[in-house]
Amino acid sequence: MKNVVILGSTGSIGVNALRSVKNLGADWRALGLTANSNLKLLAAQIKAVKPAYAAVFDYAAWKEFRARVPRGVKLLSPGVEGLVEMASLKEADIVLSAVTGAVGFSPLLAAIRASKHIALANKEPMVMAGDLLMKEAERWQARIIPVDSEPSAIFQCLAGVKPGHYDAAVSRVFLTASGGPFCAVKGSLAGVTPAQALRHPRWRMGPKITVDSSTLMNKGLEAIEIKNLFSLPVSKIEVLIHPQSVVHSGVEFKDGSVLAQLSSPDMKLPIQYALTWPDRAPSLAEPLDFLKLSRLDFARPDFRRFPCLELAFEAARKGGVYPAALNAANEIAVERFIAGRLRFTDIPAVVEKVLAACRGDSRERLTLAGVVEADSWARQKAADAADTIKKRLK
Ligand code: NDP
Ligand code: MG
Repeated sequence: MKNVVILGSTGSIGVNALRSVKNLGADWRALGLTANSNLKLLAAQIKAVKPAYAAVFDYAAWKEFRARVPRGVKLLSPGVEGLVEMASLKEADIVLSAVTGAVGFSPLLAAIRASKHIALANKEPMVMAGDLLMKEAERWQARIIPVDSEPSAIFQCLAGVKPGHYDAAVSRVFLTASGGPFCAVKGSLAGVTPAQALRHPRWRMGPKITVDSSTLMNKGLEAIEIKNLFSLPVSKIEVLIHPQSVVHSGVEFKDGSVLAQLSSPDMKLPIQYALTWPDRAPSLAEPLDFLKLSRLDFARPDFRRFPCLELAFEAARKGGVYPAALNAANEIAVERFIAGRLRFTDIPAVVEKVLAACRGDSRERLTLAGVVEADSWARQKAADAADTIKKRLK
């Protein structure tokens, strides 16, 4: 029996993860589910899969849920504590982390220290402190298997290389991007509305990552995640716009041989692979039909029009606390953009201001506590920068 805990079960990844668990058959069970505040969906999921544990992050929602927890379900603490308890449950074999943002940091660390098999969708902690988290994972013999389609593709391409030897074997990583809704748009992007940014041409995802895809920050975050997951220099990572989203990324080895992972664009495949790794099982994803692929296009991204991408690479090159500051500033800016309180083009402006003010520690002195501190410092700085921009616009 494989017991799976899903942090963020009511989200886009979480819902697909539950489908994958069901698809894997009677030996697989959803042991624990968590939501922030979507009690309606959480209750429906509990009714359908009968987990032993549930957690609700938002305190008001938690109090409401406490009064009507279904029989047989243990409700864990509210807030991050509940996520941490869930991630370290003794009975859990696999922890799938699919919450959004830096809130997933402590639960991920808890899952690592509980030596779990971790299926990781929540990329933000890997951006904030990926190399430290990988060291912790090594120490605690936890396995982190990426869920995101591009890191998953690279993970699959590197299957024949011994962990720790990736840099010696690889000359380039091709990180593909659908390009989001605005890659082909000409003219200024200042007037882009949240509704426009939230309409992704290829993937149906939660609001934060959808906006990140439209600014190309998502690709920058993935580049940092990949650098940390595989200990590769960021200079080896090349972003390619690939609108068909069939080649999910690839690797060029030192001898010139290129391996890429192809499949129809459906997150159910990388989610399931992260659960079943190192095994494979039939998935719910549509099989790829080569005869129906009329063409595969690739182009370089426009770093000038999408400054978030350049900012992420800059933070990756600087290392230390810069990626954590970048991530925090971006979370604040995106939240405000979605709320209609910042323009689309203000997102990189806020991030740039925060990075410019950041006085990064040298890499040697970077600690998990230092990362958490940089995260809260950058949030405050980003809020200040956003307020200044808003005042100027009035
Ligand atoms: P969603 O917004 O769809 O879902 C987020 C989930 O996390 C929901 O269950 C939500 O609960 C919960 N949640 C949100 N905020 C908090 C919080 N503060 N505390 C606790 N729980 C919270 O996001 P996605 O599923 O799209 O993305 C999840 C993660 O996976 C992100 O890090 C994203 O970058 C990554 N990812 C997603 C992909 C996708 O295809 N969607 C692809 C690759 C990576 P509630 O429903 O109650 O709000
Ligand atoms: Mg991705």
